[in-house]
Amino acid sequence: MPHYRVIVIGCGGIGAATAYWLSRRLGGDAVLALEQYELGHGRGASEDHSRVIRHAYSRPDYTALTPAAYQSWNVVEQESGLPLVLRTGALITAVRGSGGMEYVDATAAAMAASGLPFDLLSGTQVSERWPQWRLGDQHAALFDPEAGILDIRRGTAAHLALARARGATIRPCAPVSAITDSPRGVTVTAAGETYTADRVVLAGGAWNPILLQLLGTSLPITLTQEQVTYFATPNVREFTPERFTVFGLIAEDGRVYYGIPVYGEVAVKAGLDGAGPVVTPQTRTDAADPQRVARALHPRLLLRLPARPRLHRRLRTRLGAGAGLRRGRARRQVRRAARPGPNRADHRRRQPVPGQRLPRRPTSHHRYRRSASSGQLVVSEPQPPPAEQG
Ligand SMILES: Cc1cc2nc3c(=O)[nH]c(=O)nc-3n(C[C@H](O)[C@H](O)[C@H](O)COP(=O)(O)OP(=O)(O)OC[C@H]3O[C@@H](n4cnc5c(N)ncnc54)[C@H](O)[C@@H]3O)c2cc1C
Repeated sequence: MPHYRVIVIGCGGIGAATAYWLSRRLGGDAVLALEQYELGHGRGASEDHSRVIRHAYSRPDYTALTPAAYQSWNVVEQESGLPLVLRTGALITAVRGSGGMEYVDATAAAMAASGLPFDLLSGTQVSERWPQWRLGDQHAALFDPEAGILDIRRGTAAHLALARARGATIRPCAPVSAITDSPRGVTVTAAGETYTADRVVLAGGAWNPILLQLLGTSLPITLTQEQVTYFATPNVREFTPERFTVFGLIAEDGRVYYGIPVYGEVAVKAGLDGAGPVVTPQTRTDAADPQRVARALHPRLLLRLPARPRLHRRLRTRLGAGAGLRRGRARRQVRRAARPGPNRADHRRRQPVPGQRLPRRPTSHHRYRRSASSGQLVVSEPQPPPAEQG
């Protein structure tokens, strides 16, 4: 029975990075990483093209860590030769006098405490510098000049490639079904094979509750199903990373809208942070909900965003729906999207089985559509609103 120093369960962003850094520290042959699906599958949290990377967090314990995160990505960029972080800057905007403003103030304090650079701007100054925004002096914003886009899918694949190059064993299509104590530490069963290790790392993302169950324990984890939307625009140039920034917009009701300039898709990505329905690993689906875009994301965010270069009236989610700035049209399009056609029904039936290799969709575009919604873990510790995520 093969023995390792560490077995990492899950090869998403966290597991891949863990496997890489452990293989650096312990030597590659000490590390085994197990993934239930094929590598790069679209059902985890580390899918899609982009994630926000930033120093701008409201807690000093976070801002104490972010420089190390940037350094770590820099190491991976150097070793892989791949660009992974694209600096665009980030704007975190709130309405003066609202709870969101407390977040902006706390972020400024935390960044100052860690000696990180930032600017505080009025809404008017934001609109002068980035005329894509329609903000007034009732708004204020913090600008984090070092924030940007992290190419998450490429980053995960790069970590795995580098871990492999250092001798780590990476096993896709190996769903872990048992974790037990053994005289040699821990015994892990995956896809009919048994392995032992000194230690095991659970990096199962949305599936962590199931892995914890295998250990006979649990943690207070709330799983929510999140989705992002790509908005196509005829004004592409205005929303490129050279001209537009990553953003977080905190509404007066505390909702956090976030977005990413054109990257990966020729469209702007936007989402509502941590607002999806509570699900379980068993009940979550990969079906996009066009109503969430029509009711929440669309009217509030786009009211502020399309000041000059209007976003095109087209929503790209898994259902291929459309929703628009004009409400009548949006409703019509959403209704059309919600009508199940034969292909959509097929999609819903195609729940992947752990260990099963899924046939690739004919185009990368199609693959993206399948992955437009994904699970997100929110550990239910008390957090100051709004939640520190995204
Ligand atoms: C919509 C959305 C937007 C986000 N935006 C940002 C952002 O802008 N900035 C940011 O910093 N973070 C963001 N996050 C959070 C970030 O993406 C996640 O924290 C991160 O990707 C989590 O990675 P993970 O490896 O824990 O989970 P996952 O990527 O889900 O990986 C878990 C892996 O474990 C595997 N696994 C599970 N069970 C088993 C088993 N029994 N056997 C073998 N393998 C198993 C799964 O198949 C999966 O591949 C966002 C998350 C979401 C969902």
